Amino acid sequence: MADLIEALAEIVGKANVLTEDADTAGYLVDWTNRFHGKVQAVVRPATTQEVSRVMKLASETGTPVVPQSGNTSLVGSGTPDAQGRAILLSLSRMNKIESIDAINDTMTVEAGLVLEKAQQAAKDAGRLFPLSFAAEGTACLGGCLATNAGGTAVLRYGNMRDLVLGIEVVLSDGRVLNMMRGLRKDNTGYDLKHLFIASEGTLGVITRAVVKLFALPQASFTALAGVGCVQDAARLLELVKSKAGPALTGFELMQAKCIERVGQTIDSVSVPGDVSSAPWWCLIELSYSREPGANPLESILEEAFEKELVADAFLANSVKESRAFWAIRESIPSADAHVGGNLHNDVSIEISDMADFVDEALEALSKRYEWIDSSVFGHLGDGNLHFNIGSVPPELAFENEEGIRETVYACVQAHNGSISAEHGIGQLKRKHFLALKDPLELEVMERIKRALDPKGILNPGKLLRDDVCA
Ligand SMILES: Cc1cc2nc3c(=O)[nH]c(=O)nc-3n(C[C@H](O)[C@H](O)[C@H](O)COP(=O)(O)OP(=O)(O)OC[C@H]3O[C@@H](n4cnc5c(N)ncnc54)[C@H](O)[C@@H]3O)c2cc1C
Repeated sequence: MADLIEALAEIVGKANVLTEDADTAGYLVDWTNRFHGKVQAVVRPATTQEVSRVMKLASETGTPVVPQSGNTSLVGSGTPDAQGRAILLSLSRMNKIESIDAINDTMTVEAGLVLEKAQQAAKDAGRLFPLSFAAEGTACLGGCLATNAGGTAVLRYGNMRDLVLGIEVVLSDGRVLNMMRGLRKDNTGYDLKHLFIASEGTLGVITRAVVKLFALPQASFTALAGVGCVQDAARLLELVKSKAGPALTGFELMQAKCIERVGQTIDSVSVPGDVSSAPWWCLIELSYSREPGANPLESILEEAFEKELVADAFLANSVKESRAFWAIRESIPSADAHVGGNLHNDVSIEISDMADFVDEALEALSKRYEWIDSSVFGHLGDGNLHFNIGSVPPELAFENEEGIRETVYACVQAHNGSISAEHGIGQLKRKHFLALKDPLELEVMERIKRALDPKGILNPGKLLRDDVCA
């Protein structure tokens, strides 16, 4: 072990090989405080060359490597196991913006760049980098790529897979796969970058990327619309899509009780009024690259009232009010955490099936456990809900975790959905993923893993079976 630490220090400098508990502690626990791990060292390279040398050393010594960027994973995917054999490779020092090309509409970045900084740099250049979600002040581009992060504007701009044109990856043996191309068209064989996107650090270490930029919206309009059921929310989505076309940027769904809970527990967020008039609320955002004149949401919501799709609505009259509406949506996880319990599910269902799924899953859960206290919210426009389950009292949810997941996932399966829309598999969902994924799909994934990481050193204990590379 002393030899390995010395060799690592020779590559990245002694100050960037952390071995003391006080220095490593923050890297070894996940955001939810559920997964805790141990390592020989946390290694903080500053260049691709250093990552390459670290990986070569790890490959030669058979040392497991856990890549980590912002450590905001909600499924324990960037946390090492408890054996203490691994090194944790933190990309946080590789945080430069290398260039912005306003003609090609691209930005070239290092993988440890914090998402919020990428957004700001694009804005300063008069452009938009549209990936946005509540952890954007900590999550980094490398982590966003390795998890194919989504967020609040996927409906219009797509998720990370849609926002990237090129990446650079250090392979498990230290060789550098340079695919740093800013091309929107490139049909020269397999598009290998997509293998690494959503691979959760199990196939290679992403070190740099070329991402897409867009026109900065000049005007945006936000509303909260109360509806009687999820089916009406889906119909409202259809109406807004048909009226606003590509201007529709976000369409989120929240249970009224989620909003009430935010109002009761988060002092910094205010709720615009009484939301008890409807059990579900849609947060709608339209954005335009040119000022459209009158607020288009006014006429759309008027039509929705006439069709009896909407029971109540609040329109944001200023940027400040629009931010306040989004703050409600983004504060739901924190409000739920105040109450306790709260088991996260992150499901993907075809939008046309969403209402049936929600009804069936809530009914199946309350039949099995009368103390269920759900918190259902998320990106309805993308067919993705955070179907979170709390309980009264809070400890019951975690005591019955297996049964709850079994019940929700059975409904997901019945609708041909996915048990992870955007958070990934990590450690939290590995058992269910291995049990539910199509065996042939799993076999193909395992073959790819063996081809790219034959010694099985990259992020063991996540996603695939432990013995894939044995
Ligand atoms: C409050 C909150 C809200 C969130 N909302 C959303 C949301 O709306 N949408 C969404 O998609 N996610 C969301 N997340 C989840 C999380 O923020 C994302 O998964 C994010 O993309 C992780 O980025 P990170 O830099 O923190 O990655 P980490 O947590 O450090 O790592 C995540 C995974 O990627 C791997 N990895 C990290 N960097 C690299 C690299 N350079 N090369 C190879 N592998 C790497 C790790 O090994 C790990 O498997 C949320 C999280 C929180 C805490």
